[in-house]
Amino acid sequence: MKLLVVEDEALLRHHLYTRLGEQGHVVDAVPNAEEALYRAAEYHHDLAVIDLGLPGISGLDLIRQLRNQGKSFPILILTARGNWQDKVEGLAAGADDYVVKPFQFEELEARLNALLRRSSGFVQSTIEAGPLLLDLNRKQAQLEGETVALTAYEYRILEYLMRHHQQVVAKDRLMEQLYPNDEERDPNVIEVLVGRLRRKLEGDNGFKPIETIRGQGYLFTERCR
Ligand code: CA
Repeated sequence: MKLLVVEDEALLRHHLYTRLGEQGHVVDAVPNAEEALYRAAEYHHDLAVIDLGLPGISGLDLIRQLRNQGKSFPILILTARGNWQDKVEGLAAGADDYVVKPFQFEELEARLNALLRRSSGFVQSTIEAGPLLLDLNRKQAQLEGETVALTAYEYRILEYLMRHHQQVVAKDRLMEQLYPNDEERDPNVIEVLVGRLRRKLEGDNGFKPIETIRGQGYLFTERCR
């Protein structure tokens, strides 16, 4: 998933960037609300982690502005210990959950994963589509009970398509799942990855879940639950 992280403390920002990156996310990590607004206008994000104590435009105002602009991605706020008003105001402004500083990374990760799951309409940590089962925690796919050997990039593409099942997903959107904004991108990579995914997922049973919609992108045709 592509995440927006807004945190002015450089060390914590770097830590979040690194740890969330290790979890398979593409992370846009910025130090202030101004930069966050720019990134949010320019790119598509699946979730934002926002520190409330920011210099310049406050975290609360940032949340209000994002919501006013129609950004509906889940927002997880970081608040200072003992400041219960912060949490209340943050949630009222449009945040979905909070983590109190200092926090264990595992807690942040668990809350973030729960938010991502709910925002794509799944209540469990697995997604099923016919003979295919995706384990979101272990980042693994099983086909008829057998583990499918997927690379990290193949897995990301598959997870994104399944989370957005029965919707056309543009190639650019998939690209954002793989590379940071400033990195050189080769659109052919997506075609290659989808081709490989198809070979790994399609058997003799007629299961062909990924359809190409010419000039638009890809469609995961099976219903996921
Ligand atoms: Ca701060």
